[in-house]
Amino acid sequence: MNGQMMQQPLLISSLIVHAERHHGDREIVSRRVEGDIHRTTYRELAARSRRMAKALAALGVGMGDRVATLAWNGYRHMELYYAVSGSGAVLHTLNPRLHPDQLAYIVNHADDAVLCFDLTFLPLVAAVAPRLASVRHFVAMTDRAHLPADAAKIPNLLVYDELVDAQDDRFDWPVFDENTASSLCYTSGTTGNPKGVLYSHRSTVLHTYAGALPDALNCSSADAILPVVPMFHVNAWGLPYIGCMVGAKLVFPGPGLDGKSLYELFESEGVTLSAGVPTVWQGLLAHVEGHGLKFSTMKRTVIGGSACPPAMIRTFGDKYGVHVLHAWGMTEMSPLGTVCSFKAQHAALSQDERYEVMSKQGRAIYGVDMKVVDPQGREIPFGSEASGDLHVRGPWILSRYFKDEGGDPLEDGWFPTGDVARIDADGYMQITDRSKDVIKSGGEWIGSIDLENIAMAHPAVAMAACIAAKHPKWDERPLLVVVKKPGAELTKDELIAFYEGKIAKWWTPDDVVFVDAIPLGATGKMQKNKLRELFKDHRLPTA
Ligand code: ADP
Repeated sequence: MNGQMMQQPLLISSLIVHAERHHGDREIVSRRVEGDIHRTTYRELAARSRRMAKALAALGVGMGDRVATLAWNGYRHMELYYAVSGSGAVLHTLNPRLHPDQLAYIVNHADDAVLCFDLTFLPLVAAVAPRLASVRHFVAMTDRAHLPADAAKIPNLLVYDELVDAQDDRFDWPVFDENTASSLCYTSGTTGNPKGVLYSHRSTVLHTYAGALPDALNCSSADAILPVVPMFHVNAWGLPYIGCMVGAKLVFPGPGLDGKSLYELFESEGVTLSAGVPTVWQGLLAHVEGHGLKFSTMKRTVIGGSACPPAMIRTFGDKYGVHVLHAWGMTEMSPLGTVCSFKAQHAALSQDERYEVMSKQGRAIYGVDMKVVDPQGREIPFGSEASGDLHVRGPWILSRYFKDEGGDPLEDGWFPTGDVARIDADGYMQITDRSKDVIKSGGEWIGSIDLENIAMAHPAVAMAACIAAKHPKWDERPLLVVVKKPGAELTKDELIAFYEGKIAKWWTPDDVVFVDAIPLGATGKMQKNKLRELFKDHRLPTA
């Protein structure tokens, strides 16, 4: 017997329709490339999205066509999130920090028909445009008055606001199968070419429900959310969709990602929740600490994308009263997999013990199932000390890459994440490494993330990466690559002594090298492959 409820496909357009009807006055504030602060509401944004959807149709964009963006977080980008996907086309968010060759590869691989870009990226677009065979229209995300003279270098250039202004907003979002593709993101591709991950309307709406829950990102209409995580990095972890679902105020930082600009927006817009990678928060904390500032409204921040050093979680909590929600996910997972929120029994813990829980990547949100397996593929039970390969499955986890690149990625219906982790008896998962970063010493694994976290807790350390260095007896031993805080004094022996009593003795790094900077990738993560290359001939003092 079938149930007798309405059949309504889960479509992304339903999110903006809901926000317009039920939270129409709620504000969306953006720092613009044009230099000012722009204010709009869900009502206006919904109307402009419909106009843009009509403009795209007039340009010949149809179901399944790819529309690419090269843009910061801002209201026009958000309009495209709805205009493109809502029309049944596919929003392809490009990461402007990629090398131009990689960018050209991705645009061609995706067959993007239209490319919309913020003025910041005009020189980049001008440089690669001749190589982008599939792109029929380039759209500058600005108005005519702000268009610089050198925009003439770009063929078939259209102006975003003119496209919007040329249409009226009488438009009904089309209704189609919820499994229709909605957006496309490419993995960062540290080895080999990047691969495309194609989300659907259904996967996106389900991910939005799950992401907003109290034990996930805990979002409500009372929040003012500032996603520092870019809208080109796995859809800003879902926040532009969550905003519509719950009716939260959204605050977009545009190109202003330095500590000072972010802090100004946090304070002037009453931001309650933010989200970003650890490297961004380092800049913000340095600014706040350096100027003796406080956060007057910010209560929570989501930190993920790479392991959040426990020292950062404590600084946010103890000094600023900001609760860190440590989260883990991947492009292949839309991206949310786990969030570290407390269970009832944690209320009885001391503050130190609570911080220990918070340093883990957290427990699976409903919709994501996860397990760790040993090298033979056998599941390691929750609560075991042993770590293994982390596998996941669920309705917002990919089943194959775009255009079947790389063949079938699944093993027995599970997606192997490439992360090494352990899961405790309460279901809290902790990443110890990427499988390719694991240090194998005398046949045993050493977790590089644990070693980095300890170094990061030293007051003189700004950033630390731990990589495997060759060792004649043990095969590999840990080498720490460290950036000191400006003006700080620290010797190698002092840092090695700092590990005493904090980990098993044989895990202690064999050597420390101090560098001026650690290379960061396009999404702000340390590029350990580059460091391994740089130090491949490093001679350890113990060798
Ligand atoms: P994103 O950076 O949005 O999570 P990517 O696909 O670029 O997505 O990278 C995913 C990888 O980033 C994960 O497989 C994992 O190695 C790492 N990662 C993400 N979040 C965390 C975290 N909280 N702790 C440790 N590693 C993380």
